[in-house]
Amino acid sequence: MPPFWETKSLTEMTRQEWESLCDGCAKCCLHKFIESEDTAEEDEFKPTDYIHEDEQLVYTNIACYLLNDKTCACTQYEKRTTLVPDCVKLTQDNLDDVFFMPPSCTYRRLQEGKGMPSWHPLLNKGKKSAMHKAGMSVRGKIVKDNDVYLEDYDEHIVTWPLNELD
Ligand code: SF4
Ligand code: SF4
Repeated sequence: MPPFWETKSLTEMTRQEWESLCDGCAKCCLHKFIESEDTAEEDEFKPTDYIHEDEQLVYTNIACYLLNDKTCACTQYEKRTTLVPDCVKLTQDNLDDVFFMPPSCTYRRLQEGKGMPSWHPLLNKGKKSAMHKAGMSVRGKIVKDNDVYLEDYDEHIVTWPLNELD
């Protein structure tokens, strides 16, 4: 039997199947910024859920303070959207926002027809070690947002979250 991610679309999956697709890389817990000439100074660090065609999304190595930097898991998963209001919770109902996810994100990969990568925990007995070894998680690469000034984000811009394997 082929696995469910090869036979079902993202919207057809059960809640459990959907949740199991998350590789736990935590790249979505990194702060991203949109570089734009037109943003008013007072709006510069406000969260947004849209991007214009001529704008560019840049990743930083600054992660949310609630992230466990060893396990790459959220330390307050159940309360995350209350504690961090701009924490992006991707669901089957807001799949249009998947482009905010990094290219290696399983949801984005499946939505773009790229399939499951070989390092994914679902193909490695549920373990994250192959993903960490392949450098596809944030482990060992981040600083926390309560330790740095977000205004200095340009000192933290990185391109590794855009890397893909397979
Ligand atoms: S980037 Fe995607 S696969 Fe990785 S932790 Fe976030 S939601 Fe899960
Ligand atoms: S609240 Fe949790 S899931 Fe949301 S960005 Fe922070 S660490 Fe990640």
